Amino acid sequence: MRIGIGYDIHPLVPGRPLILGGLEIPCEKGLDGHSDADVLTHAVIDAVLGAAGEGDIGHLFGASDPRYQGVRSLRLLEESWRRVKGKGFRIGNVDATVVAEAPSLAPHLKAMVANLAQVLDSETARVNIKPTTAKGLGPLGAGEGIACLAVVLLVEAGDEGN
Ligand code: MG
Repeated sequence: MRIGIGYDIHPLVPGRPLILGGLEIPCEKGLDGHSDADVLTHAVIDAVLGAAGEGDIGHLFGASDPRYQGVRSLRLLEESWRRVKGKGFRIGNVDATVVAEAPSLAPHLKAMVANLAQVLDSETARVNIKPTTAKGLGPLGAGEGIACLAVVLLVEAGDEGN
């Protein structure tokens, strides 16, 4: 078994769509970044890559590389997963905490889980997303951005991983 951790944070700005877990969520602001700035998917990518000893998202997909301008982050997860799967791993489980003061993510959890699970060739029961808030504290609490912390457990393919 191999474990990996991922963390990411992006600022919320007007005039951008809010994409989390590959899903567009209705909001008057969206996350700013070179790609679609999907902070949840970025944290999961870093956890997957970390668990497999494959570096990190910035190393694989350069933030100044024009190929990744506006790219859907689920595509980056797909590419990362192809690499990790190729080393003989499959998903044991994924657990992520998304810190967002607003909007409420609860109505969208199931769809975000389904998106991530599908790309990771995993059952949805192995992917968990927990929304929380910063309780009004600091920049996250003021709604200036969204952060995400993710943990991924990889198991050798063929291992039941229970
Ligand atoms: Mg990022």
